[in-house]
Amino acid sequence: MIVLSEDSQRTSGKDAQSMNITAGKAVAESVRTTLGPKGMDKMLVDSGGSVVVTNDGVTILKEMDIDHPAANMIVEVSETQENEVGDGTTSAVVVAGELLDQAEELIDSEIHATTIAQGYREAAEKAKDILETEAIEVSADDRDTLVEIATTAMTGKGAEGAKDHLAELVVDAVLAVEDDDGIDLDNVDVETVVGGSIDESELVEGVIVDKERVDENMPYFAEDANIALFDGAFEVKETEIDAEVNVTDPSQLQEFLDQEEEQLKEMVDQLADAGVDVVFVGDGIDDMAQHYLAQEGIIAARRAKNSDLKALARATGGRVVSNLDDLTEDDLGFAGSVTQKDIGGDERLFVEDVEDAKSVTLVVRGSTDHVVDEVERAIEDSLGVVRATLEDGKVLPGGGAPETELALQLRDFADSVGGREQLAVEAFADALEVIPRTLAENAGLDSIDSLVSLRSQHDGGDFTAGLDAYSGNVIDMENEGVVEPLRVKTQAIESATEAAVMILRIDDVIAAGDLSGGQVGDDDDDGPDMPGGGGMGGGMGGMGGMGGMGGAM
Ligand code: ADP
Ligand code: MG
Repeated sequence: MIVLSEDSQRTSGKDAQSMNITAGKAVAESVRTTLGPKGMDKMLVDSGGSVVVTNDGVTILKEMDIDHPAANMIVEVSETQENEVGDGTTSAVVVAGELLDQAEELIDSEIHATTIAQGYREAAEKAKDILETEAIEVSADDRDTLVEIATTAMTGKGAEGAKDHLAELVVDAVLAVEDDDGIDLDNVDVETVVGGSIDESELVEGVIVDKERVDENMPYFAEDANIALFDGAFEVKETEIDAEVNVTDPSQLQEFLDQEEEQLKEMVDQLADAGVDVVFVGDGIDDMAQHYLAQEGIIAARRAKNSDLKALARATGGRVVSNLDDLTEDDLGFAGSVTQKDIGGDERLFVEDVEDAKSVTLVVRGSTDHVVDEVERAIEDSLGVVRATLEDGKVLPGGGAPETELALQLRDFADSVGGREQLAVEAFADALEVIPRTLAENAGLDSIDSLVSLRSQHDGGDFTAGLDAYSGNVIDMENEGVVEPLRVKTQAIESATEAAVMILRIDDVIAAGDLSGGQVGDDDDDGPDMPGGGGMGGGMGGMGGMGGMGGAM
């Protein structure tokens, strides 16, 4: 009996499993070479020809435009990691891929997927417990460690050259926006400026608005400025009823215009009376109003973005009003200085010396668009790890140290787990070692030698021993200042396990209609097929959305 429509496609049992596992592994494989300080970058070209050069796992996967459903579950691992911590997106995906790879072997030796799933879950729980116990405590005022954390997250990225300077800025930025409610990274605005070198990047405690003053006759700066934030248009309000004005002689027209002018003048007077020195307007500003504002010595900027108005409100303690008539002195914000400055050949308004800088701007400079974009991504990772450290107060050594330790302890733990699940726990332990192994491979080292040496140090009780990707030696990572927040690792283990388990438990793929490319389990039997044509295992060429590559080169 046929219950599915003719168009739907179905793949069941081992075929479905192996198709999904292959897709998941392909995703992990695609970012593997970027892992670690010596990881390489990827160049992604979209169908419109625009180019992104990056080392950032989640960015690569998003740009790749993957449309296989199981592959997407692995992409989501990196997205969750990005949202929860900001860093560790490549690691999370690489671990997920390796969990699938190990599971494939177990399935081949007739171990049921449910058993594997169970074993993986137990191992993940145990792994998180172990890390919690082994983690090193840091206090919030341990600035040196915070800077190290910030630096580690930027290692091997476009920011490499100036990472010491940038790490200081990142720590300052996070500390500046921390308040009783915690740390909201939305209050750290990262502005990119093309021109100058990365070293010239700076932190402005306040807000930079990418606008110039509207009129040249307005002052360039205001000290001890009262700031009005107006989300509307600075013009004469339209009358509610459509009125027709019949003008019979020129003097009447003049009278009409005079009246409008008078109203605008009144509006400006109102601001001046309230002591306003600077006004940010969400919409346009009437020419005549500009003139009067300039006469009063008020700095005005038009078409300020909503997000800018909000940031200004937070930073200056002002309130955004939608009607100028309602404006009172209480609504005004305050800043020690408002200045129009040139930055990378672009005039912007700097609102600084705000009383309580709950809103800061990190100005990232770089020589080209591609450079600043990549530095910005590295900084976003870095901001995330500093926040996570301040929130949790626990860090781990890097360089594959935690994974090596976990593999060791989990193998012991496996002995206490009975039955076939034991094999799954052991597989989980093996899978985690993909991190030190890949760090070694990407650094051009012999991965077996590196692993052996790591294992023996950890066996001897040296929890902080990790692989120095630069010298190839196994060293004390804590001493070396290569540290990461605990959450980077626990979150990666959690998301990777969940995604792997979810994929493993699927034994039936029923697709309504044609999957794009229509290749789920089509004709040949030479392996699982993937939508998008070509299969992802073959490399970048087969990825959807990369079609523009040929034309753009
Ligand atoms: P992710 O997207 O997972 O953060 P990265 O490319 O940033 O990927 O690499 C992170 C890995 O690199 C972590 O395992 C981290 O411990 C390691 N790492 C960072 N700095 C060093 C270093 N100086 N030596 C060795 N390993 C390092
Ligand atoms: Mg990283």
